[in-house]
Amino acid sequence: MKLLRFGPKGSEKPGLQLEDGVRIDASAFGMDWDSDFFADPANLDRLADWIGENGGTAPRLADDVRLGSAVARPGKLICIGLNFSDHAAEAGMEIPKEPIIFFKATSAIVGPSDPVVIPRDSVKTDWEVELAFVVGRRASYVEETDALSHVAGYVLHNDYSEREFQLERGGQWVKGKSCDTFAPIGPFLATADEIADPENLGMWLKVNGETKQNGSSSKLIFGIAHLVSYLSRFMTLEPGDIVSTGTPPGVGMGFKPPQFLKAGDVVELGIDGLGSSSQTAVAWPG
Ligand code: ZN
Repeated sequence: MKLLRFGPKGSEKPGLQLEDGVRIDASAFGMDWDSDFFADPANLDRLADWIGENGGTAPRLADDVRLGSAVARPGKLICIGLNFSDHAAEAGMEIPKEPIIFFKATSAIVGPSDPVVIPRDSVKTDWEVELAFVVGRRASYVEETDALSHVAGYVLHNDYSEREFQLERGGQWVKGKSCDTFAPIGPFLATADEIADPENLGMWLKVNGETKQNGSSSKLIFGIAHLVSYLSRFMTLEPGDIVSTGTPPGVGMGFKPPQFLKAGDVVELGIDGLGSSSQTAVAWPG
């Protein structure tokens, strides 16, 4: 199933993209795609039944409807840094021995077609196409062999990054990762059963129509089961939490000279099976 959320920012409703591509309002199912929903895997079975009974008659969404984040209000948005060896090389950093973990503020989350706001005083706003997974059942000290049973699904994420804030201002990366609009999530969450091999998905990103990133999740240094197990030794992963698994090479800071976004630039990105998204860069208002 493909779960999406639609409507004005802050008052999104749950929706679905059916197998034939038709998008419907799923409000009548009675739950938003939030932590309560993901906590119980039986909800996915109930939703499948609901689609069988109501998919043909539920209200259709307009083609130009705004999509919000495919997941409502996650408790955590965790990112994995330098999880592609060739991206570590372009960033001039060593291949990590253990996963690098950082947080991104959940207030950065927006819909997949919302504009990305270049922060005030930013000169190094950059892009990162990423495969993110969404936690289903609560995970604490889980073994790698059991880890994937805690993954509800997968979603496309652009891990926007302000490189000066991230790397030149001291302290943790979170400063360069958390600006408003820096985390477009969507267009939809694909439930885990839809993605046969999450570690063999093509990933791409273009700026103004020019390909910048063209990679594959087959190049992840630390795979998804390992990440679930590893993270769960340091914190409890709760239903609905989002974990973004890192970006392939081709980010702006990796070019010589570096390339960063300016107002008017159009960023498009996608991952096999997870659809695509597009953000237009706009100047900070003020
Ligand atoms: Zn990233």
